[in-house]
Amino acid sequence: MASLSYVSQSNSAWDNYLQQLKRVEPFLDDPLRQRLDFLRHPKRALIVDIPVEMDDGTIEHFEGFRVQHSLARGPGKGGIRFHPDVDLNEVMALSAWMTIKCAALNLPFGGAKGGVRVDPSSLSKRELERLTRRYAAEINLIIGPQKDIPAPDVGTTPQIMAWMMDTFSMNAGNTVTGVVTGKPVHLGGSLGRVHATGRGVFITGLEVAKEINLDISNARICVQGFGNVGSEAALLFQKNGAKVICIQDHSATLYQPNGIDVVKLMSYQKNHGGIKNYAPDDEVDKSKFWKLEAEIFIPAALEGVIDAEIAQTIQTKLILEGANGPTLAAADDIFASRNITVVPDVICNAGGVTVSYFEWVQDLSSFFWTEDEINLRMDKIMRDAINDIWNKSIQTQCSLRTAAYIVACERILIARIERGIYPG
Ligand code: NAD
Repeated sequence: MASLSYVSQSNSAWDNYLQQLKRVEPFLDDPLRQRLDFLRHPKRALIVDIPVEMDDGTIEHFEGFRVQHSLARGPGKGGIRFHPDVDLNEVMALSAWMTIKCAALNLPFGGAKGGVRVDPSSLSKRELERLTRRYAAEINLIIGPQKDIPAPDVGTTPQIMAWMMDTFSMNAGNTVTGVVTGKPVHLGGSLGRVHATGRGVFITGLEVAKEINLDISNARICVQGFGNVGSEAALLFQKNGAKVICIQDHSATLYQPNGIDVVKLMSYQKNHGGIKNYAPDDEVDKSKFWKLEAEIFIPAALEGVIDAEIAQTIQTKLILEGANGPTLAAADDIFASRNITVVPDVICNAGGVTVSYFEWVQDLSSFFWTEDEINLRMDKIMRDAINDIWNKSIQTQCSLRTAAYIVACERILIARIERGIYPG
């Protein structure tokens, strides 16, 4: 396998993805195995400079990226992250996970991801709009409803998607709603999109809990990240009888062993930008989070948070990966040996991309569905996918992650082989 000259960091998110991919190799037959290298090489990576005139008249430059990891099965699909730690390596890994995710769900998309190295909370609304529009204009070259369709991720919102859609449309000379998903509903967004990822975490969690005889109504749950994904997942589990005992976000770690009132905390954090000071007496040191005992842990913040040491000591039965890439490959091996089930990101948090797919279909056909239709269709796709992957993992005696990768890689590599290599 040829290594990539532009990837220098070991122990990076991309490295983690490569290790996950390696585990699939023994389960693939030739000629698919011989083509696995396609998934080790992102198809296209664009790095852009984003000059922004700040409110005080100075000009600041931000680094932006859009990576299309694979377009073998359809247009690229994947979110845009605004976060100070964004770099090419991270965006590459996130784009690769989108390739695997879309294929594991059998959605007709390839994988892509974008990001800007910025702390969006440090910008005014006008600065944020200028940054978004310039970024959208810079990646305009490679996005479009038939090419690559961005969506929200960490630090980006429906409003940011609206600015991206408007910028693309101004350049095209007509309104192109299908260029991004996760838009506000008035602009061709889909009902159900905002709740979709957390809902998918809940649905896949329920299905797997049944398989491992875990009673959700008596489960204690710890959630890391209380944004779009973590808060919705916590809410659904609580509504179904589970006790959410600990929530950690960037600002604090809240531990209430008798159960946190998720609805109240959601409304608090909307007004305060975080959970800090909601209940100061119940805040604990952040290192306590992974040491608590709970039937379910939901990492729903950033990648790479569960290392071998945490995997060795964590006291739990089930991990639901709301975030992308939260578990390092070394930790996966330990979970397998300790009989802890991990529902991997590529299936667990795929509710968002599933409803994004519905949004794209609705935009292209200019015909919109009800929220009930959307939830019913999403639930079916998610249930079928997790059940297929569960069965594959039983059949191959491997983890759910490797099973999901096997299902996905087979689909992608068959498409790749059938398409052939241009120019032939
Ligand atoms: P968000 O911006 O809405 O929320 C992120 C949350 O993580 C916030 O509560 C923040 O406080 C917390 N956080 C940030 N840094 C932290 C830290 N160091 N420790 C603890 N908490 C921290 O983002 P989101 O959309 O909920 O995305 C969360 C994860 O889910 C990401 O990995 C993202 O890629 C993944 N994901 C999101 C979607 C989606 O539809 N939003 C879909 C699939 C996957």
